[in-house]
Amino acid sequence: MSKHSFVIFIVIVALVAALFTVFSPSGESKEPLVINEVISKIKAGEVQHILVEGKELTITTVDGEEWESTLGSNTDFLEVLRQENVDLTAKGAPNIEFKEGGGLLSSEWSLVLIQFLPLILFGGLLVFLLRRAQQGGANQAMGFAKSKAKMFTANKPTDTFSDVAGVEEAKEELQEVVEFLKYPDKFSRLGARVPKGVLLVGPAGGGKTLLSRAVAGEADTPFFSISGSEFVEMFVGVGASRVRDLFDQAKRNSPAIIFIDEIDAVGRHRGAGVGGGHDEREQTLNQILTEMDGFEANTNIIILAATNRPDILDPALLRPGRFDRRVVLDQADINGRKEILQVHIKGKTISQEVDLEAIAKQTAGFSGADLSHLVNEAAILAARRDKQQIEQGEFEEAIDRVIAGPQRKSRKMSAKEKGIIAYHEAGHALVARNLPNADPVHKISVIARGMMGGYTRQLPTEDRYLTTRSQFTDVLATLHGGHVAEEIMFSEMTTGAQNDIEQASKIARAMVTQYGMSEKLGPRTFGKREEMVFLGKEISEQRDYSDKLAEEIDEEVNGFIQKAYDIAKEILTNNKPKLVQIAEKLKDQETIEGKELDELFDSEAPALEPAAGQA
Ligand code: ADP
Ligand code: ZN
Repeated sequence: MSKHSFVIFIVIVALVAALFTVFSPSGESKEPLVINEVISKIKAGEVQHILVEGKELTITTVDGEEWESTLGSNTDFLEVLRQENVDLTAKGAPNIEFKEGGGLLSSEWSLVLIQFLPLILFGGLLVFLLRRAQQGGANQAMGFAKSKAKMFTANKPTDTFSDVAGVEEAKEELQEVVEFLKYPDKFSRLGARVPKGVLLVGPAGGGKTLLSRAVAGEADTPFFSISGSEFVEMFVGVGASRVRDLFDQAKRNSPAIIFIDEIDAVGRHRGAGVGGGHDEREQTLNQILTEMDGFEANTNIIILAATNRPDILDPALLRPGRFDRRVVLDQADINGRKEILQVHIKGKTISQEVDLEAIAKQTAGFSGADLSHLVNEAAILAARRDKQQIEQGEFEEAIDRVIAGPQRKSRKMSAKEKGIIAYHEAGHALVARNLPNADPVHKISVIARGMMGGYTRQLPTEDRYLTTRSQFTDVLATLHGGHVAEEIMFSEMTTGAQNDIEQASKIARAMVTQYGMSEKLGPRTFGKREEMVFLGKEISEQRDYSDKLAEEIDEEVNGFIQKAYDIAKEILTNNKPKLVQIAEKLKDQETIEGKELDELFDSEAPALEPAAGQA
């Protein structure tokens, strides 16, 4: 190992040296002039212009030729000219231009650097070798870990429970942890066994870190944090020793909170995945378990660990005395989202008219982090528009930004393309509007955002946890609305429907194979789905049914899709004047939303001229 790194070191030195040779000033292609030649050219009146960049001269002669020259290291060009009695005010004298810098390597600093480089490298090598000798082979990984341990500086967070919104139950459960940290005697006197480890389960950006900091803040204790992914280091043994250091420091500063983010990175089920256990991970995990078991009853430390994948954790972690408590942070519902927004608009100037409820309604599926991002985007937009306060308009625009990335003004769409997208989106909207179980359409737009050409946004009327079969059927038909509209109007399909079709196929397949919604095949699942842990979220499907059934599944899936397609086609054919009306308005206006959209749906569509729409 030590021989190895030595070779690498030498190679690096060689490379650096080579680089300096390549870039050094002496490597010019055109033969440079010496300074005396420059002077004689000036005296002969041949020079028109001289550019002085640091020590580099670029000489342009009267007949347009260019020459380079370099000044000596301690020479001032003007001084040289003076000594040579060159009169710069005379007729035919060159004009001289000075420019700062002159490139990294021609400046004085680089000269110094080049002169001292060998010395620096040599010194570095010496220090490197000495330290290596001191540590000795086996010890060096430990030394590395030790030095990293200095990073576990505790901070005392100022966050409180009032900064975390929409997770009332979780806060209540953690209140107990706070009390334990604050008044340990109260518990130990009664012989109560206090929790050591609490597992926080919830989606990314749901406030797990924030809540943990708030626990420390409420209890006024130091907060040590580390992320599971950090443990996965190069050297075997480092992870384990970092765990030891972490717990040592926490113990010295108790009462304290230790927060382990992404614990699934080290604590995933041993033996899961392919290629055997990861040695390093396993040792780290073992060290965590050992430390937790080794706590004496009165060690006033609580370990909070966060994960969004509790299902893949090693059961050993979840045993009594370890992470035996589980606090779930649910995705925020509409009220939760409103409260989170309230937390984040604190300290910002918001217009009286802003309707947080309406914003909460439009942000189903947003995490706390998304909402925080949303408020910030709105503030930025308002600032850019020179407004005194943030208004509803900024929030609406910010929602779109967070959903689909910033508006792409630069993307140029041909009128023809815009027409196609307008009909495509109008098709989605109109089909959804005509189906009883589809979510109401809130907004249609042909403005490109992120990767989408245009978009149709539907809003659920309520938060939903179950989806019915009729809802799925209407979703399928709505998805087909886009390309069916293109087909009806232009007798042609485009690639714009790719995403819709992909989604529709996925839903139809899930209806048959996972939700048992096919009448013919009945309520059973097909295929054993297994998440391959070692590849992250990859899903592999194992067939547990016959070829004959496979055929029937395909037929059923196709059946659902075909039926949805027929529904979409029927609606759009019967409402063609309306389709044209919406699409034409969309082409004009680019975005239609809210009340205007409702009115448009309800109004009488003008009758079609025979050739209308064949744009
Ligand atoms: P996690 O650890 O679950 O991935 P974080 O705690 O890091 O999520 O959340 C990131 C940011 O999102 C927080 O700093 C906070 O600004 C915001 N946030 C998330 N959840 C909430 C919440 N429930 N209430 C208020 N803000 C939240
Ligand atoms: Zn579409």
